[in-house]
Amino acid sequence: MIVLGIETSCDETAAAIVTDAREIRADVVLSQLDDHTPYGGVVPEIAARAHLEHLDGLIRRALEESGLGLGDIDAVAATGGPGLIGGVIVGVMTAKAIAAARGLPFVAVNHLEGHALTARLTDDVPFPYLLLLVSGGHCQLLVVEGVGRYRRLGTTIDDAVGEAFDKTAKLLGLGYPGGPLLEKAAAQATNPGRFDLPRPMVGRPGCDFSFSGLKTAVRRHVEELGGPLSVEDRADLAAAFQNTVAEVMADRCARAMRQFKDLHPQGGALVVAGGVAANKALRARLQRLADREGMPFVAPPLRLCTDNAAMIAWAGIERLRLGQTDPLDFAPRPRWPLDPTAKPAIGKAG
Ligand code: ATP
Ligand code: MG
Ligand code: FE
Repeated sequence: MIVLGIETSCDETAAAIVTDAREIRADVVLSQLDDHTPYGGVVPEIAARAHLEHLDGLIRRALEESGLGLGDIDAVAATGGPGLIGGVIVGVMTAKAIAAARGLPFVAVNHLEGHALTARLTDDVPFPYLLLLVSGGHCQLLVVEGVGRYRRLGTTIDDAVGEAFDKTAKLLGLGYPGGPLLEKAAAQATNPGRFDLPRPMVGRPGCDFSFSGLKTAVRRHVEELGGPLSVEDRADLAAAFQNTVAEVMADRCARAMRQFKDLHPQGGALVVAGGVAANKALRARLQRLADREGMPFVAPPLRLCTDNAAMIAWAGIERLRLGQTDPLDFAPRPRWPLDPTAKPAIGKAG
């Protein structure tokens, strides 16, 4: 089975071709970074227009790279939500048009399920597993029991962790997108222990997260330092923030591991996914935790952590294997939780 995947839910336009033998035949991503940088963040209207302008060309490129034609494709999968709705509509309409013209099955993939199942494209990861989903819009701990079967153990009560990276990077004057730039700055730190930051939620029961206090603490240090920050100040603060986030994650994951083991005494892996999973300090911290707990740890290659269409094609394959497809009147969804039964965390829905 060969599937064309399309991703347009945020500021990456992406197309990929993946087989059910876990081969990525093509994987092209066009970042709209330059379009949004002047505004310091993603502008939905600009994103939607850029997807419209570039998607057809990217699909053509993916086909060329794979050496395949549309006639070789067995199904089309596109992100059906959640995300910026203008962009999602562009991807879904394009996928439906190809499916209709070619008489192919269409799958509307939950973008978060794309992130959640990526580890099964790159590694042998059986269900169930414990998933730490850390991205620009989400920060959740989930038990993945199967395709479409998620049990949420915890979520953020304020900012998503990627959002916290982005806002903190902005505070430090590092620019946009913040995550990778903050990681780079942290690597230059000469005194990573210089700033003491609070560790929100650490030691508290449950598996929820909170990041707004951490961001505020960084702001206070920036104000106290006064004037323009030196390269060293920036690097030390970035390292303090990154290490604190990793510690918070490890604390929350340790609790989730206990709940996971109660639910599934036969065990399973700890998997990390989403854009923030590209952070090497976080990966290293989680690896240490998993080693200590005797759980396998799986983190997808960096390129497959941030948004891409290979993960969408793969989630499509996982659903097609179960005989699941979507009708051509599928309506794009701005919101689409993985565990619809989970209650909103205090102070925030989703
Ligand atoms: P969602 O998946 O929740 O809908 P999204 O698709 O916008 O949101 P992703 O593309 O999965 O999010 O991840 C983007 C986020 O990951 C951004 O906030 C970015 O700053 C962060 N990020 C990317 N690389 C790194 C890194 N090396 N360290 C920390 N954060 C990173
Ligand atoms: Mg993005
Ligand atoms: Fe994403």
